[in-house]
Order: sequence, then structure tokens, then C-alpha cells
Amino acid sequence: CGIVGYAGTNDAKEILLQGLEKLEYRGYDSAGIAIANSEGVHVYKEKGRIASLRQAVDLNETAQVGIGHTRWATHGAPSRINAHPHQSVTDRFTIVHNGVIENYSELQREHLSDLDLVSETDTEIIVQMIERFVTTGKSTGEAFREVLSLLKGSYATALIDQHDPETIYVGKNKSPLLVGISDGINVVASDAMSMIKLTDQFIELSDGEVVTLTKDDVKIETLDGQAVHRDPYTAELDP
Ligand code: GLU
Repeated sequence: CGIVGYAGTNDAKEILLQGLEKLEYRGYDSAGIAIANSEGVHVYKEKGRIASLRQAVDLNETAQVGIGHTRWATHGAPSRINAHPHQSVTDRFTIVHNGVIENYSELQREHLSDLDLVSETDTEIIVQMIERFVTTGKSTGEAFREVLSLLKGSYATALIDQHDPETIYVGKNKSPLLVGISDGINVVASDAMSMIKLTDQFIELSDGEVVTLTKDDVKIETLDGQAVHRDPYTAELDP
């Protein structure tokens, strides 16, 4: 299982697919990507190999921002519906997640009792709660941090908001996640190897940190909003 994310100036879908292929060694049962442009966010996902996902992707659709996921099912059988990315009711928010949310049924009861979830995953409640919190007047960044603070368990996660398709929101707790930086390109990856063609400069995230990332900017904060400054290291891997 793994996560990739890309914000830059090249075609995101090919970069995401290649990044996911480099994460195949970690094991997975399904895969998906979401790409965002001014027309909206488009999700492609399939059960099975990345080769099947590749076939499902519309080659004519271009975007410079996107997130991708390989799933190793923990909650809900391997299926196209349970594959990530998952979207909120209005499709405004799109999320990928690795890890396990231990208190997902409590959170569902408390915050989403009137909602029929689409999937059987522990992940979907995160994106549905973010939409609820934004509907009550919070910014996406605030809602993201607040919802992550309520989660018990492990996550590496990336979120896209259709209303701001240039930004990727990233969070991490007890699951690996790196941010890769370059000139006019910033990326997210479970493992540096999956993005080493684009950059060898990576920032390791600590548990309980969130990142707001665009092609030109990487802002790291703690869940309670304190700014974090951390220098990148040089990843030494064969491209
Ligand atoms: N718990 C999530 C699911 O079952 C994520 C699994 C993973 O880490 O790939 O969908």
C-alpha cells in the first residue's frame, strides 16, 4: 500500500501512475488516482493491477495536480467501490489514505449518523467529516486538521478540494509519508523511490504534522497549527 501526490507543471496522471508502479512492491489489491484541474476532480480506480487502472484512465484529460493510492484492504473487501480515492457527498473533497482508523464507527455515529456511506472502508468517514466541518463554516485547512485530531489509529493521507484544485492537504500519523521538493514541483510519497525521477530532496514528516502543498509552496504545521520548519535531506537512490 502506498500514496503519491504531485503538484507541478507536467501531466500529473502519468507521474502518479509511474509513482504507484514503483510502490507495487509494498503489496496492494486495488489502485486509484484523482486528478484536479479547473474543470473539477476526476477519479479513476480499479480493483487489481495498476495496469488495469492505466487502461481505465482517460488519456485526453490533463491536470497538473493529483493524488494516487495503492490499497491493501483492512476494512471492506477489495473492490472498485472500496478502492481509493474516496469522495465526499458533493464530490467536493477527494481523499486517499493508508492505515487504519480505529475509532471510525464511533466517529460515524457521532458525526455522520444520517449519512449512507458509499464504501465499507474506515477511510470514507474522514472525507465525509471534512465536508461536514467545512459546511459549518470552517476552512478546508481547519477542517482537515480538526478531523485528523479526532482520529485514533494510523494514517498517511492526502486530500484535494475541488474549490482549490492547486492544493494538496497531507497528514501523517504512524504511517510513513515524505514530501519531495523541487523547483516548481512538489510531491508526496510513501517512499522516496517512487518520486526520485523528479527530485532527490525530501522532507520527512513527523507524526501529527500536516502539510499544505502547491507546486510552489510547502507549509508544514502541527495539528494544532504551529508552524514547523525542517530542512530536506538528499535521498540517495538509483533513479
Ligand atoms: N484502511 C483503509 C482501507 O481499508 C486503507 C488501507 C491501506 O492502507 O491501503 O481502505
